[in-house]
Amino acid sequence: MPRRCPEEAFLHAIALIVASGRGQRFGGALPKQYQPLAGRPVLRHCALRFARHPGIAGVRVVIHPEDQVDYQAACGDLALLPPVAGGATRQESVLCGLESLADQPPELVLVHDGARPLVDDGLIDRVLAGLAEHAAVLPALPVTDSLKRVEGDLVAGSVAREGLQRAQTPQGFRFAELLAAHRRFAGQALTDDTALMEAAGIPVAVVAGAEANLKITTAEDLARAQALLAGQLIPCTGQGFDVHRLEPGARLVLLGVPLPDEPFGLVGHSDADVGLHALTDALLGALGAGDIGSHFPPSEPQWRGADSTLFLEHARQLIEAAGGRILHVDVTLICERPKIGPHRAAMVARLAGLLRLPERRVSVKATTTERLGFTGRGEGIAAQAVATVALPA
Ligand code: MG
Repeated sequence: MPRRCPEEAFLHAIALIVASGRGQRFGGALPKQYQPLAGRPVLRHCALRFARHPGIAGVRVVIHPEDQVDYQAACGDLALLPPVAGGATRQESVLCGLESLADQPPELVLVHDGARPLVDDGLIDRVLAGLAEHAAVLPALPVTDSLKRVEGDLVAGSVAREGLQRAQTPQGFRFAELLAAHRRFAGQALTDDTALMEAAGIPVAVVAGAEANLKITTAEDLARAQALLAGQLIPCTGQGFDVHRLEPGARLVLLGVPLPDEPFGLVGHSDADVGLHALTDALLGALGAGDIGSHFPPSEPQWRGADSTLFLEHARQLIEAAGGRILHVDVTLICERPKIGPHRAAMVARLAGLLRLPERRVSVKATTTERLGFTGRGEGIAAQAVATVALPA
């Protein structure tokens, strides 16, 4: 269940994301709403931003009937309402979405373009707040450039920009009023949903839009969204610590590098790669995604003797799925033996390969404990790790 803000708990709001267009202006085989943006499809960004908002109880996407496979790849794993097929025009598609909700109507609906992936919580908040007072709410931004009417390639006149604003989405509505307007004006090709409310004589309140909430129409827009998104990532740090016991004759693998010439090896449920375990925990920590034991319980026999690179790859994929990116890792191995120096370059190269990082972003260090404690007596090896990960704000 999504979290609900107390002040919004009495208003049941559904986000209806319209993603059924073919995007003729974008070109290419893949519709723009399924184009990759910072490692995930444009539509997935939209869906996640609404699904995670505490004031939104559910998300439904209106898709093109031919896009089932792309939709499943983009959003199939998210807890959304099942998608519905749209119609020939945007207005028809919104009506399809509204009708699909009509049996159990929400009080509010936010209609959003599937090609606006940078909608943010503050904008959704403003639209929801506006709906406490009004039946229709439009986010919009003032026009700052001079406006010209052009005929052919000549200016035919200047247009006063006073009072003009650029309409964005999500546009918010009392569900019953919007559905009634869509049914009444079906087939009239009005430009957007607030235009239907205007036609129905229902006042539309304006709240501030957001400059970053751009609509992706061209490849240049996608590049701009990419740059904006990169600027929105924030650095998060995770740390990990692990210990495994040394025993004679056991296999020794440290940071994914087998060390077959050592007389002692590490024992544990998996391959006991203590360095990879600490590093996996550091990555999970940066993501706030629990620890290695919660993802790979030692009680499950399938992880017996497991190659610990699997655990690291899992953490890397979780970060990528969250729209994040690993920036840097630093691992310290704590032991009297083996000597790490001769293997350090191989370990750095191995980690860089596993994490898809340049080697300069991977640090492997070693220390002893001056023959003190269990590591000093050679009973075990300890490892600690710190990971820095850029994650969506
Ligand atoms: Mg371990």
